[in-house]
Formats: sequence, structure tokens, C-alpha cells
Amino acid sequence: MCDKKRLVLMSCCAPCSAGAIRQLADGAIPGVGDFIVLFYNPNIYPDFEYQKRLAEQIKYCEKLGVKYAVGDYNHDAWRECVRGLENEPERGARCSKCFAFRFAYAREFAAQHGYDAVGSVFGVSRFKDQNQVDAAARGACGEIIYMPIAWDESLRQKINHESEFYRQKYCGCEFSMRK
Ligand code: SF4
Repeated sequence: MCDKKRLVLMSCCAPCSAGAIRQLADGAIPGVGDFIVLFYNPNIYPDFEYQKRLAEQIKYCEKLGVKYAVGDYNHDAWRECVRGLENEPERGARCSKCFAFRFAYAREFAAQHGYDAVGSVFGVSRFKDQNQVDAAARGACGEIIYMPIAWDESLRQKINHESEFYRQKYCGCEFSMRK
């Protein structure tokens, strides 16, 4: 009997997710079989920046022939979620809320579409704290398994080097633009 998990991989952008998607497409992640890339990033601001990151993500998924889904771009709801935390530093309380907001969506998506597990590349950037991402995910994923996967950083960098991805200069929200 096959006990491989069906994984929802949450992605924030193509440069961060390139290696992880390649590994999953190659079947190189133990315990994971079927997977889908979920682009749910209502934190990204403004709209044209969101569209650029989304277009790049779709282009990469289609190049590799992997499944993907796009969540709602409900930035107003995200703003409401982080209300009062606008001046928090990156890696602070606003980021924990932001991660939890997106993981909660992934949990619903997984439950509705028959996936067992959720993972993400939210901790890939050197500006992020993987422990913070993991804590937010564990709190938000509920009955869905959270899989904190150690992605191959050298593969990610190699693909980035060979690709002409659009590379953003800030994490995503309007508050990270000031930094
Ligand atoms: S800095 Fe990044 S992780 Fe933190 S709240 Fe803004 S978009 Fe979310």
C-alpha cells in the first residue's frame, strides 16, 4: 500500500520555489507523491507587483508541467488580519499573522481538494525565520499534516542562476517596502 502524502506546496514566488518544485517534480522528496503548487499571497502589494510574481510562478509551473492553483487576491482581508501590527519589523508579530493567514487558507484548500499535507517555501529567503514559519504553520494547519521540508538550497540557486526570473526587492506587503 502506498502511503505517500499528497502535498500542497505554498509558494510566494518563482525564485524561492524553483528548487522545491523541481525536487517534487523529480520525486526527490521522500514521503511525497502527488503535489500541487498553491499561490495564495494576498499580502503582496501593490496589485501590479502581485501580477508580476503570479505570472512568473505560472510560467515556471507550466514549464515543468506541474499542477498549480491560484487563491483569491483579498488584500483588504489580509490588511484586516494584520491591523495594529503595521509597524512591526520583518520577522516580528505581523509576519507570524501573515504566515498563519496563508496557512489557514492552505488548510482549507487541502481539505477541500483531498490533499493530506501542506508545506511551504516561506522560509527560503535569508530574510525569513524558518522556525517562525514552522510555528505559524503548526498553529494553522489543524488536521492537515504540516511538512517542514529541508529544500535543496544549492539546486534552488543553480536554477535561479540559469533562469531569468523576475526578482522582487522586498518581501511582499507595503510595510516591507519601507525597509
Ligand atoms: S514582511 Fe513579508 S511575511 Fe512579513 S507581513 Fe509583510 S509580506 Fe508577510
